[in-house]
Amino acid sequence: MNVNKLSKRLQAVASHIGQDAVLADIGSDHAYLPAHLAITSRIRRGIAGEVAKGPYDSAVETIRESGLEGKVEARLADGLHAIRKEDGVDTVSIAGMGGPLIASILENGKSQLKSVRRLVLQPNIHAGAIRSWAVANGWLITDEDILEEDGKIYEVLVLERGTAIYDDLQLRFGPFLSKAQPPAFRKKWEHEAASLQKILQQIQEAAPSAERHVKEAELMRSLDQIMEVLGNGAENDRQ
Ligand code: SAM
Repeated sequence: MNVNKLSKRLQAVASHIGQDAVLADIGSDHAYLPAHLAITSRIRRGIAGEVAKGPYDSAVETIRESGLEGKVEARLADGLHAIRKEDGVDTVSIAGMGGPLIASILENGKSQLKSVRRLVLQPNIHAGAIRSWAVANGWLITDEDILEEDGKIYEVLVLERGTAIYDDLQLRFGPFLSKAQPPAFRKKWEHEAASLQKILQQIQEAAPSAERHVKEAELMRSLDQIMEVLGNGAENDRQ
C-alpha cells in the first residue's frame, strides 16, 4: 500500500468521503488516506491526526514526499483534538481500530465535531459499539459496507446527523448489512457462530456452576441472534 494504491479496506473508506470534503483522518498512521484523496483531488484539505510520534513522523514524510504541504497537514494529537475550529472540517474518518476505541475517541472529542456532517468509520471488530454511540449522540447510520481482504473481514459505517431507533439486532449486525447480507457478512457471522458453538461445547463439558450457567445463557442468546439474522437473510433469498 502507498499513497497511489490504497488497500481494498481503505479504498472502501475513501469511497464514502464526499467530493471537496475537508477531512480529518484520525489515527492516520502514514496519512495514506488523506494523501491519496488530496492527490486525486477528492478533498479540499486534509488533516492527518496521530497520537504516536512514529506514525506522526511517517505522516509528515508522506506529505512531504507527495508535495502535499499546504493541502494535508499532520498533527500530533489525541483523537479529535487534532481538529481546530478554524479548520472547517466537515468529514472525519477513523479506520483500522477496534469499535470500542473508535467510539471512545468520538466520545472524548465530541465538542470538536460541531462543524462535522459525516463520520466514516472502519472498525476492525465490534462495530456495535459505534452504532450504540451513534444512537446515544444524535447520529444516524446512512450506509454500511463489508469487505474481505487478506482473510479478514472489515465493516465500514457512515454516520450523519439525525436520530433513529435501532433494535438489538440492528445495533449488533448493522441495519443495512443485516438487510442486504452480502457474502462477506454471511461469512463473518457463520464463522462467529461456529466459534461460539465451540466455546459453548467446552463450557457444557465443565462442572455445573452458577458462573457456567450465566455464561451458557449469554452464549446461547448470542448464537440465537446470529441464527435469527442469518435465517432472515436466507428467507429473503427465497422470496
Ligand atoms: N488509519 C490507518 C489505517 O486504517 O490503515 C492506520 C490504522 S493503525 C492500526 C491505528 C493508528 O491509530 C495508529 O497509528 C495509532 O497510533 C493511532 N491511534 C490510536 N489511538 C489514537 C488516538 N486516540 N488518537 C490518534 N491516533 C490514535
